[in-house]
Formats: sequence, structure tokens, C-alpha cells
Amino acid sequence: PAVDPNRVLEEARQAGVRFVILRFTDILGAPKGVTIPLEDLPEAIETGKWFDGSAIEGFARVAESDLYLKPDLSTFTILPWTRGQGTTAHVICWVVNRRGERFAGDPRAVLARVMERAARMGYTYVVSPELEFYLFRAEGERFAPAPHDEIGYFDLATDLAYRVRCEMVETLRALGIPAGPGHHEISPGQHEIDFQPADALRMADYLVTARLVIKHIAQAHGLHATFMPKPLEGRAGSGMHTHQSLLRREDGGNAFADPEDDYGLSPLAKAFLAGQIAHARGMCAVLCPLVNSYKRLLGGFEAPPYVSWARINRSALIRIPAIKPGRYQSTRIELRSIDPACNPYLAFAAMLAAGLDGIERRLPLPPPVEEELFPMEAAELEARGIQRLPATLGEALEALEADEVIQEALGPLAAERFLEAKRLEWEAYCRHVSAWEIERYFHVY
Ligand code: GLU
Ligand code: MG
Ligand code: MG
Repeated sequence: PAVDPNRVLEEARQAGVRFVILRFTDILGAPKGVTIPLEDLPEAIETGKWFDGSAIEGFARVAESDLYLKPDLSTFTILPWTRGQGTTAHVICWVVNRRGERFAGDPRAVLARVMERAARMGYTYVVSPELEFYLFRAEGERFAPAPHDEIGYFDLATDLAYRVRCEMVETLRALGIPAGPGHHEISPGQHEIDFQPADALRMADYLVTARLVIKHIAQAHGLHATFMPKPLEGRAGSGMHTHQSLLRREDGGNAFADPEDDYGLSPLAKAFLAGQIAHARGMCAVLCPLVNSYKRLLGGFEAPPYVSWARINRSALIRIPAIKPGRYQSTRIELRSIDPACNPYLAFAAMLAAGLDGIERRLPLPPPVEEELFPMEAAELEARGIQRLPATLGEALEALEADEVIQEALGPLAAERFLEAKRLEWEAYCRHVSAWEIERYFHVY
């Protein structure tokens, strides 16, 4: 929606805004920003704020090192905690080149392009993530690898973590982010904050902000919040289950809903689901981008090791939540591989492109797998054509290299830069001699 720049400027002046953070993310989803005085905002709106792109991960390319930040004024938000002391607002920006064209290496542009493709097909992609994370106690300069509490799933406590989590939700809401319920997850120190559905571009903006806010608030209470997918061996990992639907642009109705169907899903939803099943391995590196991500996906702790879908089975990659009668507008499919370390722009772009590919090619949906998959024999899995998710980041990168649909969703530049950064990460890991190896081999051999 077009926002009147004069109105934004006027409101900012009225609210006493002194500084504006121009925000964007690099290819890995790390938040970046440059702070300008409010007086400089009109010029940034007019011509964009220049920065040296070659210093940013995944942006470097000699020809494109002159980049500009163009505020998307619909995201202009005052940061409530700065009110009265150098009141500051932030605004998410498009990264553009000197000709004013969106820079292909900007993850937000990547998602916008796939969203525009969905729009041409008549749909808006709406997502609702469950963001899991751990809170650790900070001890001096180090973080003790022990969670700060000893309670579990949905436990209520009047402890510090409970108050901290409420403050996180409150702050997110004050920023206009639809952070919904929060609850304690199954492991000590593990938490979850859920987000009400929003279109995927907005949601990606929200998630980048939310990860920052959650870390800041934890820090202010002497805690450390981590979105690392598997911070503790032998304990649950942190996922970012994402509920997804396509809404019809013409009337806002849910195009996934079919109350007559056994699973409550329309043929369109089933084709979308089939597309995500077909590209589950190819998009895995984008959704689960760290070496550490794959330690969460090895099986157990309700994280999915296999490519399957089901209504109830919690080890399924995609789950179909039951819908209450009459609440068909909330029909959705829940993808469970994705983790909170991902770049949400690229992840949602890949997920949407996978689903759209299923729709365009009318991919058939494999049968659901309602039984527990984990103990199944390799031979049975193979006989039933059930694939495994990649077991390592290295394997996931190979699957991405083999998946043209997902690479096309990222676009040549972002795909190349992402693969390059991740291959280096994987090689560095492979070279590393770990404490585990020393302990296991040093004396025995
Ligand atoms: N923490 C689990 C995961 O790694 C998910 C638990 C749940 O909320 O079902 O995905
Ligand atoms: Mg959860
Ligand atoms: Mg879930």
C-alpha cells in the first residue's frame, strides 16, 4: 500500500523522533542498519541512502558495490523504549542499485518477487510461525551451558523467565507485531512465542525484528536468548514450525479449505503440499541453514527426520492441524523442518515457490504416513518411497544445487551467494578437529 511520505514525516516530527534506523538484512538474514537523523529521511525517501554493498555478506560484487537503501514507509515504526531519549524509529528498506532497481541479492526482494508471482496467480501467501528459542543464564563473560530453570512444556511459573517472556510479547505487540501466545517448551529453558497469521513479507520483517527484540530483552535481564537450532545435546532442538495458507486475492477467502474433504484440504492445498514434499530436500539448506540445524533433524524430540505428511503424527514434515467446524478460514498446513536460524525472507520464498510448483505442475500428493516413522526400517521406507531429509548441511547443499525450482526462487545472484557462504561454512566445519574426536580417539589410537 502506498504510504504518504509527508504524513510519515509529520507524524515522526510530532512524536519527537530524532533518529531513524534504515534496516535491511544480509543473505544470511542478519539484521543490518544505518542510523540517520530524522532531517535526512526526506533525502533517503527521495534518492535512497547510499552504502557500500561490498562490505555486506552475500552482497559483494564489484559492479554492484554502490547500493542504496529505499525506505518501505509502510514499515515505519517508533521504538517505544527510546521515547524521550533520542526517540528512534526504524523502517525496513528495499536495497536498490543506482538505477533504482531492486538489488537481486536483497533477500526481501527475493521474497517479494515470489509473492508477486503468487499474486499473479490470484493468491496471497499467509504464514504463522511458532518461534522457539532457549534462554541461558549469562555468567560473566561466558554463558553457562545450563538453562536457567527446570520446568517443562506449558508449565507455568512466576520465575524470571516467565516475566521476561511476557515482556518480550508486550514489546513485540507495541511494535505492531502480532505476537500471540507464548509458552514454555518441553525442555528446561526452552520457550516459544507464536505469531498470528500475516502475509509472508510482513512476517519475515517481523521475525527479523523479533529475534533482535528477544535477544535485547533477555540481555537486559542478564539472560542470553539463542535461536541456535540444537544448543544442547540430548534435549529438544528449537524449530520454527510455520503454518501456511493461500488466501484468494479477490475475496480474502482461504483457498486451502474444503470442508467436504477428509483432511479439510482443497485440491489446490494438496497440490501445494505435494510441491513442498517434492522440494523438501532441495529447500532444506535454506530453511535449516546451519551445520547445527541437522543435529535437530536426526530424529526424536518432535523434529522431522523424514519427508512425509500427516494429520496427527508429530514426526511428520508437514502436519495438517484439525480445524473446528465453521472455522475453515484457518485451514492451513504446518511445515516443521524450518528452524529459527533461517533467513525468513529466503525460507518463505523457497517454501512458496515449492508450493506454487506443485500447483503449476499439478503434482500428485503421496499418501499420508500416520504411524511413527522413526523406528521404521530403511527397507520399508524405501519400499514406500519415503525420503529422508538431508542428514548434514553438506548433503542439504547438494540437494539445493540439484533443485532448479528452489534456486530459481532465490534467483541466480542470491542462490550463488547463499551457496558460496554455506559451502565455506560446511568446509570449515569438516576441517575442524572437535573435542569429541580428541576425547574419543586421542588415547585409544
Ligand atoms: N522443538 C520441536 C522442534 O524441534 C518442536 C516441538 C513442538 O512444538 O511440537 O521442532
Ligand atoms: Mg513448539
Ligand atoms: Mg507446531
